[in-house]
Amino acid sequence: VDTRTAIALADAERWTAHNYHPLPVVVAEAEGAWVTDVDGRRYLDFLAGYSALNFGHRHPGLIAAAHAQLDRVTLTSRAFVHDKFADFCHGLAELCGKDLVLPMNTGAEAVETAIKVVRKWGYQVKGVPDGQAEIIVAAGNFHGRTTTIISFSTDPDAKADFGPYTPGFTIVPYGDLAALADAFTPNTVAVLMEPIQGEAGVLVPPEGYFGGVRELCDAHHALFVADEIQSGLGRTGRTFAIEHEEVVPDMYVLGKALGGGIVPVSAVAANSDVLGVLKPGEHGSTFGGNPLACAVGAEVVRLLATGEFQKRSEELGDRLHAGLNALIGKGVLAVRGRGLWAGVDIDPALMTGRQACERLAERGVLAKDTHGSTIRLAPPLVVTAEELDHAVAQLAAIL
Ligand code: PLP
Repeated sequence: VDTRTAIALADAERWTAHNYHPLPVVVAEAEGAWVTDVDGRRYLDFLAGYSALNFGHRHPGLIAAAHAQLDRVTLTSRAFVHDKFADFCHGLAELCGKDLVLPMNTGAEAVETAIKVVRKWGYQVKGVPDGQAEIIVAAGNFHGRTTTIISFSTDPDAKADFGPYTPGFTIVPYGDLAALADAFTPNTVAVLMEPIQGEAGVLVPPEGYFGGVRELCDAHHALFVADEIQSGLGRTGRTFAIEHEEVVPDMYVLGKALGGGIVPVSAVAANSDVLGVLKPGEHGSTFGGNPLACAVGAEVVRLLATGEFQKRSEELGDRLHAGLNALIGKGVLAVRGRGLWAGVDIDPALMTGRQACERLAERGVLAKDTHGSTIRLAPPLVVTAEELDHAVAQLAAIL
């Protein structure tokens, strides 16, 4: 059919590398929890840019901050300081309860930053012999797409044929404290993990796991780095998902929603005994901490400081999970997650996750499969109770 959607899809397919397999939806406009496609169809966005759109599409306060900044200055590079830089860094550091932040752009860059910092800390503070630093990570992790990060991926699609790989990483099963305890050596500088594994299917670790991770890190004089790029900034009903475990990491790695779905903004936050190891010239980014990013990021921090979004996510999350749990045994095998974040295992005898997402899209709900027959639901935190109920009803209908 010669719809605008079909034409735009064919054009995109013809002119871009096929490193994604998008749903056949071509978005033209969006507001709040809704997007409209080029043929005028409306959809509830239950992916929310992989949680980059926690505050919804085009949140008025964020758009206003971006507009105002576009009219003043957009880029200086870090060769100079601009007048929005301290505002953002100060606000974010306070939100994290840490001394210092280091802004970058994408999530993968922030993870790379964390890796460099903990290695340097290992050599300079812990006294690990040069070139011997080890970082412990979890099987099933997703931390980004750079060559170093995929070196410790356990997903063959992410890793195969992209070697040679960066050494220095030890992989342990996620949620298994005994295995983690065995993996430490005198050269371990850090444990890097997601408090909830998003891409793996919204996997919540067993209760007490991260308390144990924290204790083991302390016992071995190693740093605990929490990758909160997808789980953080309100998604789970708290500012950080690790708060559910009552654990404070040595470093937060943040991205996605930090840029309000407007600009790529990422950062790491840590105390000065850790981030202070970096000296001028050792790390940086042309666009990291640029004025537009800081203007939007500072506004994101202010939105989170109200606690309103975390509260919404917690309350509406209970409703979402109750609705989804009621589908167990009716085509759903299991539901996991916290707050407005859910991994739903659909009975593989019925359909794949991809087919589920295609059928949901036909019914006006956008979601994304992860692996096999698991789909992930992560609506913007501005979604209403009625919209949640509507989306769950569409899932029930396709089952
Ligand atoms: N870390 C986690 C936990 C993520 O979910 C992602 C992206 O999905 C990343 C890192 C990488 O972020 P980016 O795609 O912005 O590089």
